[in-house]
Order: sequence, then structure tokens, then C-alpha cells
Amino acid sequence: MQIETAETIGHAPPADYHFDIAIVGAGPVGLALAGWLAKRSATSRLSVALIDAREPGAASADPRAIAVSHGSRAMLESSLGFPADATPIKRIHVSQRGQFGRTLIDHDEHGLPALGYVVRYGSLVTTLAQAVSKTGVHWFTETTASTPLHDHEGVTLSIHSATGDRTIRARILVNAEGGLYKDADASSAASSDLSAEVKNTRDYGQTAIVGTVSVSSPQPGVAWERFTPEGPIALLPSGGARQADYALVWCSAPEEAARRSQLPDAEFLTELGSAFGERMGRFTRITGRATFPLGLNALNALVDRRTVAIGNAAQTLHPVAGQGLNLGLRDAHALCDALSTNGPTTVALSLFAQRRALDRRMTIGATDTLARLFTVDFAPLAAMRGLALSALELVPPVKTVLARQMMFGQRR
Ligand SMILES: Cc1cc2nc3c(=O)[nH]c(=O)nc-3n(C[C@H](O)[C@H](O)[C@H](O)COP(=O)(O)OP(=O)(O)OC[C@H]3O[C@@H](n4cnc5c(N)ncnc54)[C@H](O)[C@@H]3O)c2cc1C
Repeated sequence: MQIETAETIGHAPPADYHFDIAIVGAGPVGLALAGWLAKRSATSRLSVALIDAREPGAASADPRAIAVSHGSRAMLESSLGFPADATPIKRIHVSQRGQFGRTLIDHDEHGLPALGYVVRYGSLVTTLAQAVSKTGVHWFTETTASTPLHDHEGVTLSIHSATGDRTIRARILVNAEGGLYKDADASSAASSDLSAEVKNTRDYGQTAIVGTVSVSSPQPGVAWERFTPEGPIALLPSGGARQADYALVWCSAPEEAARRSQLPDAEFLTELGSAFGERMGRFTRITGRATFPLGLNALNALVDRRTVAIGNAAQTLHPVAGQGLNLGLRDAHALCDALSTNGPTTVALSLFAQRRALDRRMTIGATDTLARLFTVDFAPLAAMRGLALSALELVPPVKTVLARQMMFGQRR
């Protein structure tokens, strides 16, 4: 990999700063696309530029724990690698606080070693960055991109760093610069104006507090999704050998999340215990608290002339079903296929958009429904939710269809 740093970016550009594909955003989705394209470049011969506002390694401190589905892990591991410190999820326990009804999803029912794996965002980005660094991808770090100009042949893109501005040419521009969540990390990047008009938006009026908690009676390999009147609480096994550690995602009204994020540890743990209950004993420790605003932002059209959006730049989802990254990785995989097979053409982009339509519709729809259905504090609705959870237990095929959608999505 060739890395352009902020120190060298101001130098006179080589004459051939023309790429087949320029990817803006080296988050997990942009990195996966760059790595997959590079792996296939022996046959496709595509040249790839990767542009990110952060310095390499800046993401490694991101405290977010992400549940990567079995299907996503399979896509990554065989080609780019997977973090060694991932913790397997063997069973998912879904219930609602103070109401009847619960459902269990178990890896045995699906004949898989695990339903998914919990990884740290920083750990995943580091693994993917290492894989990309061994390829011919040309990486501009600490560099932002803005204002693409389209013409018949491609796109001209202005890029900016501390030491200067430059333009590069690409036949296809991929917007992988993330979305709503980058607000939580204001240092990550300036907004770049690559997005087409957002059509499908919803403000859930919720903010997530994330962090790592320890519990007194852990249940190894079990992930918990607990719906409370304030919003869902997810606890994901995340400690590897330290089985008492769980990654917390606690969704509530923004003002409550702001208040709780400032509480002394002991008070925070007491409130969490009251909200979640005692299924894993007491909460004994919290570290790495951070907050993320939550909402739905989905583009109706992924393609605008020679620009295409993937990952959170295409759709930013509520984390209730743990689908954002998984959907984004499927975007990247399908785009790699389309570009490697059809070249850096508008035909490739149209085929990509067609191929992604069903999976996007189903995953965005299911996540949005869950986020709304399970966050309304209305007694009759709570009873219906209890019935729905119980019904899933009684009608195994429905549960299987749901679980498989979450683990593999719709891939064609
Ligand atoms: C609390 C929480 C829990 C979550 N849990 C899960 C889960 O369990 N499972 C799951 O699948 N998903 C989960 N998600 C969603 C997941 O984090 C995102 O879907 C995923 O990070 C999207 O990756 P991305 O690469 O598209 O974007 P990002 O991770 O946002 O990366 C974007 C990159 O683009 C760069 N960038 C931005 N603007 C510019 C610019 N102008 N120029 C250059 N570079 C730029 C940034 O520096 C960054 O490196 C969760 C999200 C949250 C907030």
C-alpha cells in the first residue's frame, strides 16, 4: 500500500493521479471494499485510491462493540482476516422488561459454530487496515474530500489536508464516509457533500450509551436484547477469556443518556441494574462510556451518475438489531463483484444498485419496525409485543427466517 500522509500531500502530484476507483472513507466498509478490490486486481486490473480524514490508527480507540454476523465474518475472514479477540455469540435472549414473552435464538438450531461475533470497532478497523496495507491501494490519510465534479468519463474530486489541496480523477467515486454516527466523533471528518438527497429519515429521539460492563454472574456466549419502556438495552459478551465483560448499548431519550453519561460509576451501575434486571447478577464495573445519537437515514438511490454510496453513507440504522455494519459489508462485497466483473462503468453501478435493493429494503424495514415497535411505552402494545415474542417460540420456521435474514441478509 502506498500511504500519502498530511506531510507529503502538499507535494506536486505525480502526473498519473488518475484512478479507476476512489473510495472516500476508510471505516470498516471502505476498507473492506478497498481490500476486496485489491485482491481481485490481478484479474480486474483496477487501480484504487482510499481517502480518509483520520490518521491510520485513530479509529483503534473507538469503544463501540459490534456484533458481526456469521455471514459477515465468513466474507471477511477468508480474504482479509478477522480480529483474533472476537467473542462468539452462541445464543441470543430477547425479552421485555416487566412483561411476559421472550424468545431464544441458539446457534445449534442453525448448525453454526456461533450466531455472530462481538468485535471492537477499533480492532476490526486495525485488522482490515493491515490487510489493505499489504495491497497496491493508494491511501491518502488525514485528508478530506469534497465537491465531486462529474463529466462523461469520470469524476474530478478535490481533496484537502493540513498541507494543501489537490484534485484527483476517478472513473468511479465511492462514498463510504459514514453517516450520522460520525457526529459522536467530531474530530473524524468534515462533512463532504458527496451524498445524494436523503429520502428515508427518522429521528427515534434516542441516544445510545456504550461502554464495557462487568457482571457478577456471567452467562458465557449469551447476548441479551432487553426491551424497556425507555428503549432497548443490549449486552453482548465481549471479554474473550474475561467472561464477566459485556459490551453495553443502552438506548434512551437524549437527555437521559446525557445525564447518565455523567453519573458516577456506582450510580450508573445501580440505574442499569434497575433497568436491565438481575439475570446476570449485579453490574460491578463500567468503563469507556461514550454516546451516539440514533436515527434512520437511508438514501433512496445509491447511485448518482458515477458516484455510489455504501455502508453508513447509504444507510444509517438504529443499532437495535445489530445490522448496520453487516448490511454495509454486503454492500461492499456486491460492489466489488460488480466493478471487478463489469469494470469501472455506470453499467456496473446499475447492476450493483439492482442487486442490493431487496436486502436493503428488508434489513432497513425490519430494523425500523423493531426500533419503533419496541420503544413505545403503551400497555396494549407491550402485551402484543409479548405475544409476538412468544409466537416466535411457537412457530420455529418464522424464527428461522428472521434469524437467517439477520445472519446472512439477502445475497444474490
Ligand atoms: C452504538 C452503536 C452500536 C452498533 N452496533 C452494531 C452492531 O452490533 N452490528 C452492526 O452491524 N452494526 C452496528 N452499528 C453500526 C456500525 O457501527 C456502522 O454501520 C459501521 O461503523 C459503518 O461503517 P462505515 O465504514 O460505513 O462508516 P464509518 O464507520 O462511520 O466510517 C466512515 C469513515 O469515513 C471517514 N470520513 C468521513 N467523512 C470523510 C470525508 N469528508 N473525507 C474523508 N474521510 C471521511 C471517517 O474518518 C471514517 O473513517 C452500531 C452503531 C452504533 C452507533
